[in-house]
Amino acid sequence: MEIYIPQNISAIMDILENNGYEAYIVGGCVRDSILGTEPKDYDIAVSALPEEIISCFEGYTIIDAGIKHGTVTIVSEGENVEITSFRIDGEYSDHRRPDEVRFSQKLSDDLSRRDFTINAMAYNPKTGIIDPYGGQKDLFRRKITCVGDPRKRFEEDALRIMRALRFSSELGFDIDETAAAAIFEMKELLKTVSAERFSKELVLLLSGKSPYGVLSRFYEVLAVVIPEILPCVGFEQHSRYHAYDIWTHIAYSAEYSARIPDVRLALMLHDIGKPRCFTLDDEGKGHFKGHELISADMAADILKRLKFPSDTVERIEKLIKFHYITPIDDKKVVRRLISKLGQEDFFLLMEVMKGDNRAKRSFCFERVRIIDLMVNRAEELIAEEDCFKLSDLAVSGNDMLSIGLEGRKVGEALDMLLEAVIDEKTENTRESLMKYAEEHAK
Ligand code: ATP
Ligand code: MG
Repeated sequence: MEIYIPQNISAIMDILENNGYEAYIVGGCVRDSILGTEPKDYDIAVSALPEEIISCFEGYTIIDAGIKHGTVTIVSEGENVEITSFRIDGEYSDHRRPDEVRFSQKLSDDLSRRDFTINAMAYNPKTGIIDPYGGQKDLFRRKITCVGDPRKRFEEDALRIMRALRFSSELGFDIDETAAAAIFEMKELLKTVSAERFSKELVLLLSGKSPYGVLSRFYEVLAVVIPEILPCVGFEQHSRYHAYDIWTHIAYSAEYSARIPDVRLALMLHDIGKPRCFTLDDEGKGHFKGHELISADMAADILKRLKFPSDTVERIEKLIKFHYITPIDDKKVVRRLISKLGQEDFFLLMEVMKGDNRAKRSFCFERVRIIDLMVNRAEELIAEEDCFKLSDLAVSGNDMLSIGLEGRKVGEALDMLLEAVIDEKTENTRESLMKYAEEHAK
């Protein structure tokens, strides 16, 4: 099989080979090329040592930040290309990083340290695909299989547990049974993984093609780091809107939503507080009063603990707080929501609400239709440059001063005018707003 290699990558490989070294593309790009999807980037593995790589690229911009781990980054046609010396990892004593990095002359050593068979292939146009662990067969069987003994590999680096779940969701592949058993057995080791590394894989997992299968089967694994998940599992909702327990509903809502990381993250946590506010009434109906606020608070705690950036924490908190509003296709309602949330978060909220409602009983699909109408209406309002924020008003603070308002009153008058425009009590023209302010703000 021939694999397409972009011109700037093959030029780098040629330079390395002309200097007498072996060079291959490796890992994700070989996997994705065989699958027929476009690789995110192309990584090169080479028999040269880092200093030797550097000496091949005189005149190039070189970033040598990863050099201790054997990686030299060459800037080629505006793109960063990582070139890594063949490595064989030393012993791991902390379940995270090898104690030492040892370089090797053999590609086979380098492939043996890689996590999964589908990620342990190399390619060079002269040799073709080098696949010592059956990666192609596993791509065909759609299986995530470890290179070597899964227990040992997860023990060396517990992040691989998350990576297995992530690739399963991203590719829609099953995890091989021995690897799955090892994941359950070794799950506590996830506590040794840094929050940042865990979170990065979690977001990729959620944003994958098939998060449902992973969330519904491996919840105990995620719960090692996010124990708030466990009370949701199997929790019957006793509600005419719901066909599933809380966690199953959450897992489906992620599966059925747009593949946008913040939308998926919000959906994973949107009902996480439900078990804490459950009540059953005399007719046997379940209620979760205020669950959106409790879930938003819990989500913020969880995301802070997982070291998400503060703007992500704030956004997810907001999306969860608002996810439970009733969808109404009305100009005033849509305008008010855009005003409260901002345009970007308004559209994200609509995607969150669609995922949520698609994972309920089928009659809730009517709501999805209404949400689509709200999206259309929002697009119209935005195209018409409607009024959503103070700076969209046809008057300013100076105008309020000119009618004799001072200090705090100026801001309050503008807020009042924005409310009035949103509610269509006045038009957003200078004349109409000044009149309205004269009548209501003084
Ligand atoms: P993506 O397309 O998402 O970038 P990828 O397979 O390229 O997927 P990377 O995280 O970029 O994943 O890693 C590149 C390669 O390095 C992997 O394909 C794998 O061979 C190897 N690798 C990465 N992380 C590990 C790990 N923790 N343990 C073993 N091998 C790893
Ligand atoms: Mg990659």
